[in-house]
Amino acid sequence: MLNGQLGDCVLDHIAIAVKDLEASVKVYEALGLKFDAKREIVEEQKVKTAFAPIDENGHIELLEPTEENSNIGKFIEKKGPGIHHMCFKVEDVTKKTDELKAKGFQFIYSEPQKGAGNCLVNFIHPKSTGGVLIEISQKLGEA
Ligand code: ZN
Repeated sequence: MLNGQLGDCVLDHIAIAVKDLEASVKVYEALGLKFDAKREIVEEQKVKTAFAPIDENGHIELLEPTEENSNIGKFIEKKGPGIHHMCFKVEDVTKKTDELKAKGFQFIYSEPQKGAGNCLVNFIHPKSTGGVLIEISQKLGEA
């Protein structure tokens, strides 16, 4: 149980696809958010990321594609920059993937993948969630 009050699934981050990471960091800093100074490149996803906490669990994650021909690059080309997905933290992403698959949910990856911040992640297809791309994430330890 990650948080007795909230159940076993809590908001971890809202991810926003951006064209220019540092320009977007300035937008959210103007609102008062404080970004981690570290920028992380996730090779598997071909993105550069910046994180800012919004409460004790949740973050804003900005995603800038490092290649046009990547998921985020294609998303921006098709839909423009904007909210890309939300992510819920779970205790065991493999177990949760299997549970949800058994209930008929479709996933983007058959097996969880490495994500930013030393996490193991998978994505539930928007077809299964009413149009929202939902990531589930398991922390593997401090990065
Ligand atoms: Zn994410």
